[in-house]
Amino acid sequence: MTKEKIVDNFNMLFPDAKCELDYKSPYQLLVAVILSAQCTDKRVNIVTKELFKKHNTPQSMLTLSQSQLEEKIHSCGFFRNKAKNILQASKDIIEKFGGNVPATMEELCSLSGVGRKTANVVISVAFGGDAFAVDTHVLRVSNRLGLASSDNPDKVEFALKKFFDQKDWSRLHYQMVLFGRYKCKAIKPECADCPFQSICKYYNKEK
Ligand code: SF4
Repeated sequence: MTKEKIVDNFNMLFPDAKCELDYKSPYQLLVAVILSAQCTDKRVNIVTKELFKKHNTPQSMLTLSQSQLEEKIHSCGFFRNKAKNILQASKDIIEKFGGNVPATMEELCSLSGVGRKTANVVISVAFGGDAFAVDTHVLRVSNRLGLASSDNPDKVEFALKKFFDQKDWSRLHYQMVLFGRYKCKAIKPECADCPFQSICKYYNKEK
């Protein structure tokens, strides 16, 4: 199957795939992405709707103590680590970047709690850059479809960027996340009407 056909299939399956986190600035998006680890976007949006009423900049976030922030984000899970990372990243943004969220991979990854996946989402969604974030769903789908052959998200990211055209990266990221979440699930994927059967390693092995 050609890459064009793969892109067509994803466009057909998820024509409206896009970031579902609510945000009004790069800083808000960064906080939302940190909160979204192991949590649904829906839950994060409920939490940030309240949180961002008074704490929507690094400066205003730092008026909260660790325990006060933990209380506000408790329902997102892993709240101690997330609160620690949000406060430290806010401090870093003020001290190292004059209060503005940086836009490069290297600078974003220098912030506390920010890895390539988070940085890629911020670069593509907040700054309109071309990035390909690899989360657990993208990793699984890529390996099943033979687009990559690795458990290492960084290696998979580079393989996907090499294979697909740059203009398609950001959209494909969200399409692959949705595909992995709702159809090509880790356990019992819904293969019956999947357009990728012919190239799927998992499907052909099971068959
Ligand atoms: S055939 Fe099944 S395992 Fe393969 S990509 Fe489709 S849903 Fe996933």
